[in-house]
Amino acid sequence: MKLTVVGCSGSFPSAESACSSYLVEADGYRLLLDLGNGALGELQRHCGLYDLDAVVLSHLHSDHCIDMCAYFVARYYRHDGGRCPAIPVYGPEGTEQRLVTAYDDVPSPEAMSEVFDFRTLGRPDSFELGPFTVRTAEVAHPVQAYAVRIEHRESGRVLVYSGDTGPCGALETLAEGADLFLCEASFTRGKEQIPDLHLNGEQAGEIAQRTRAGRLVLTHVPPWTDPQVNLRDAKEVFEGPVDVARAGAVYQV
Ligand SMILES: [Zn+2]
Ligand SMILES: [Zn+2]
Repeated sequence: MKLTVVGCSGSFPSAESACSSYLVEADGYRLLLDLGNGALGELQRHCGLYDLDAVVLSHLHSDHCIDMCAYFVARYYRHDGGRCPAIPVYGPEGTEQRLVTAYDDVPSPEAMSEVFDFRTLGRPDSFELGPFTVRTAEVAHPVQAYAVRIEHRESGRVLVYSGDTGPCGALETLAEGADLFLCEASFTRGKEQIPDLHLNGEQAGEIAQRTRAGRLVLTHVPPWTDPQVNLRDAKEVFEGPVDVARAGAVYQV
């Protein structure tokens, strides 16, 4: 399974990266996790605009979903080849309405669902997408938000994406034994102390250590957070390899 970091800036785009979006590929199947601000442009560096097979949205904060409005335009108004068929789009309750409201001027009430087959994530949930078994768990964030575990059935390799979350047991249960743990590290240790919102580098490292992750990749670092501090803090508590995600990075999981 191949992971490509399409965008990894937390909360708002940086000069170096769009917001959250991660492309997961295996056996010719392409699954996209999140599509935040600016990520649709970056995505086209890594795969064709119409080559996605499914999308999973971790939650409906704009830095994780808002470019779905732009992607609607690309699929609905495609001239050559006509309107695109609907691909599965998994998300929290209200995903379709959230995107319709954000778009504001859909040509008909059903237009969004003509190109996106909306499916509401259960709490928890487990389903198969192409070569993957996907499991989700609700995590600690001000809105309904999910962490996502993707297992490549043939190889048994596992990628876990935290989404946005504060420390919580549901994340640790879901993340157990991941080969690659893509974990948010938005906060700085000793600086922000807001419950049920985000993790800092040390907390991400602690979860990776407790769940015996093979590799930790810190992501969703906002422009106002120093990624090197979070990298240092994670390395102090996690014995395995740690990276900070950067746009365009590719990992073989
Ligand atoms: Zn976010
Ligand atoms: Zn969020």
